[in-house]
Amino acid sequence: MGYIVLPEASKKIALLGATGSIGRSTLDIVSRFPERYQVVAMGGGKNVSELISLARRFRPQLLSVQEESGASELTMALKDSGLSIPVMVGQPGAVAVATCPQADIVVAAMVGAVGLEPAHAALAAGKDVALANKESMVMAGRLLNQVAASTGAAILPLDSEHSAIWQALNGEPKKGVEKLILTASGGPFREFSLAEMAQVTPAQAMRHPRWQMGPKITIDSATMMNKALEIIEARWLFDIVPERIEVLVHPQSIVHSLVEYVDGSVLAQLGLPDMRLPVAYALGYPERLALDLPKLDLAAIGQLDFIRADVKRFPALRLVRKALEAGDSGAIAFNAANEVAVERFRQGEIGFLEISETVEKALNMVVREDFSTLTEILDFDVRVRQLLL
Ligand code: MG
Repeated sequence: MGYIVLPEASKKIALLGATGSIGRSTLDIVSRFPERYQVVAMGGGKNVSELISLARRFRPQLLSVQEESGASELTMALKDSGLSIPVMVGQPGAVAVATCPQADIVVAAMVGAVGLEPAHAALAAGKDVALANKESMVMAGRLLNQVAASTGAAILPLDSEHSAIWQALNGEPKKGVEKLILTASGGPFREFSLAEMAQVTPAQAMRHPRWQMGPKITIDSATMMNKALEIIEARWLFDIVPERIEVLVHPQSIVHSLVEYVDGSVLAQLGLPDMRLPVAYALGYPERLALDLPKLDLAAIGQLDFIRADVKRFPALRLVRKALEAGDSGAIAFNAANEVAVERFRQGEIGFLEISETVEKALNMVVREDFSTLTEILDFDVRVRQLLL
C-alpha cells in the first residue's frame, strides 16, 4: 500500500487595498502560486473598473468598495459576467473583508488611518495580518500588539524596511540587538536646499527615484515623513525603544534595512526594489517562495552609497522624536496632521515645507496621553483633524 500525499492546503487570503501597489504585488504572487494561495475576499477603493476585472479574474466570495455608487456599478458588471458576489461598502465593508470567516491571512494594504479599524478587526478575529498599512501601527501599535497577543494572531511586516529587519532578526536572541537601522532613499529632493524645497510642486513630489507607489506614500517619501512613520512602526513591530532606531540614507534602495548587534556585527537584507519580495516573504513565511524575477546583480550596480540623514532639511525626522516622547497621542497627532497636510499640498493649498510645519503645529497642541481602546484612538484622530481645520 502506498502513501497518499495530500496536497498542501492553500492559504486563503483576504486582501484590502487590492487596486493599490501592494495589492497588485500580492495578486502577482497569488497568480504565480495558484496551488498555494487563493483570494477569498477583496476590498478596493475608488478604482471600480480595476476591481471589476480583478473580481472576474480571482473570483473572491466577498467584495468591498469605498462608495455606494461603486458598489452598484460593481454588482451590475459582475452580474453581466454571470458572477454573483456580495459587495459591501465603506468601513463596514472593509471590516467584513478583514474578518471574512474563510480567510487565514489578511493583507492589509489600505492607505492611511482608515486602514486601522479593519486591521484591528482582523487581529481580534484571530487572523494573521500581513501589514502594509503603517498608519495602523503608528496610531495603535500598542493596542494591536495586545490584541494579537490575546488572540494568538501574528502581525507580519510588509513594508520593505520592516521585512528586511524581520529577516535580519530571524533566529537571533533579542537581547543581542543593539539597534535597528532603517534605510531611506531620500526621495526626489534629497539634495535640495530648503529654499528649493519651498518651491516644489505636487507633480515634482510625485516623481520618486526608486519606487513606484501611490500618491500618499510617494509624497511622504519626499518629505521623509514616510521614514518617520516607519520609525514608529518599527518601534511597535519589533518592540524596541525608539532611541535604538536610526535612519540611514541609501539612494540606491538595495539594502532595505539593517540590524546592528551588540558585538558590532551588522546584518542586512538586500534585494532589488520590488514589493513582491516582502509580500512573498510574508505570505510564504517561514518558507521562501522560488520567484522567477530579475536577480540582484551587485557587480552591475558597482557602488552603494550611504549618507547621514539631514534633520535640518527633513524636519520629519526631528518631529517624530517629539511625537514619540508625547506617547500615543503624539503618534496619532503626527499621523493625522501629516495626512491632512499631504492632502492640502496635493490640492495646491499649502507649500511643500508647510507639510512638516502643519505636523509641528499639531504636536505643539497635543498633551501626552496613552489610549487603551480603538474608540479612544479613532476619536483622538478625529479631534486632531478638527483642530487643524
Ligand atoms: Mg517602506
